[in-house]
Amino acid sequence: MGAVGTKSELDELFGILGTADVRGYIGEPVSQLEHALQCAHFTRLSGGGDVEIAAALLHDVGHLLPYPKQEMGEFGARQHERQGAAYLESLGFPLAVTELVAGHVDAKRYLAAVDPHYAAHLSEASRVTLRWQGGVMEPDERDRFAGQKSFESLLLLRRCDEAAKVPAFDCAPLAEYRPLLEGLLAASPRTENGSSLAAFSVAL
Ligand code: FE
Repeated sequence: MGAVGTKSELDELFGILGTADVRGYIGEPVSQLEHALQCAHFTRLSGGGDVEIAAALLHDVGHLLPYPKQEMGEFGARQHERQGAAYLESLGFPLAVTELVAGHVDAKRYLAAVDPHYAAHLSEASRVTLRWQGGVMEPDERDRFAGQKSFESLLLLRRCDEAAKVPAFDCAPLAEYRPLLEGLLAASPRTENGSSLAAFSVAL
């Protein structure tokens, strides 16, 4: 697909993210869109590159997809990280982005196990969802998690995710990220078959 399909796919994605402005972010004092924008902003400030910034912006898109979900009580969709990653993959985003999206819940489980400061500062909603998400990682799982190539990026994204819950925080609007996402899609080697929401599904 390359640049040919990039426009319609990003239109679809931005349409979904646009709906996030009115959706509260599961038990937090910001909308889903504010959360996404703050996460991208903090990731950029922390030295993240285009891949990390895109993943930060899109990491919770799985909460917004119009598919049947298993809910975690009041706190959003279970396996949203996998649904989000599969959707972004269907749009043609590179593995470097989708694996960060897919791993952002495990990054919380890892950090909660190894970093007492991180664990102590989880928000109430994050604490509740951690239980639904499998709780803190056991040592063998931690070793596997820490051995992956994207380990440092996953931790960066997760720390920014946790910070991105500041009410009325002023940061760049969604449109500002469009060129960055266009660049990643255009450069991605796996953009042969850009798909749409109508064609997309993922088995959980
Ligand atoms: Fe998040």
